[in-house]
Amino acid sequence: MPLRIVQHDITTMKVDAIVNAANESLLGGGGVDGAIHRAAGPELLAECRGLGGCRTGQAKLTKGYRLPARYVIHTVGPIWRGGSRGEEELLVSAYRSSLELAAAHGCETVAFPLISAGAYGYPKDQALKIAVDTIADFLRGREMTVYLVIFDPGDYAVCGARFAAYMDAPHT
Ligand code: ADP
Repeated sequence: MPLRIVQHDITTMKVDAIVNAANESLLGGGGVDGAIHRAAGPELLAECRGLGGCRTGQAKLTKGYRLPARYVIHTVGPIWRGGSRGEEELLVSAYRSSLELAAAHGCETVAFPLISAGAYGYPKDQALKIAVDTIADFLRGREMTVYLVIFDPGDYAVCGARFAAYMDAPHT
């Protein structure tokens, strides 16, 4: 199964690349971004400073430094503004841009957090469906394995109702 939904802390994932749900400055924030920078060490922020930010829906790649992952792919998801401001298109683009960058760097294993579903306020069920659909669509005909990493055990349990086929221990 090339797409797996797992409950984990993304900073500990031993994969070729982890994806960071960053903000446009790429200069650090809270949530998963803060956790990734803390785990990777200050060299990550130093490299990010040279990237000149990242537009919403796009992605940029750095090294992983002290992380087990070789690379960090920084992408910027949309801030939820009610759903009629192009949020879905931008969220799909954040996943696709990250996956294309991973493929271009020869990554065979990639881990994503649930982009935009924290501080950026995207409704979690919709964010999850877009993540699963976009990743599954990209993976058709490719060798890559992608982990969708759910941090919160309660959120993970909710996934089970809809996406049991992708999960290690199917929930009912
Ligand atoms: P955004 O600003 O894109 O909403 P957040 O970091 O606030 O980004 O949240 C995105 C998702 O990342 C949320 O579902 C949050 O629970 C999750 N998250 C936070 N810390 C971690 C972590 N260490 N590993 C995996 N996911 C995490």
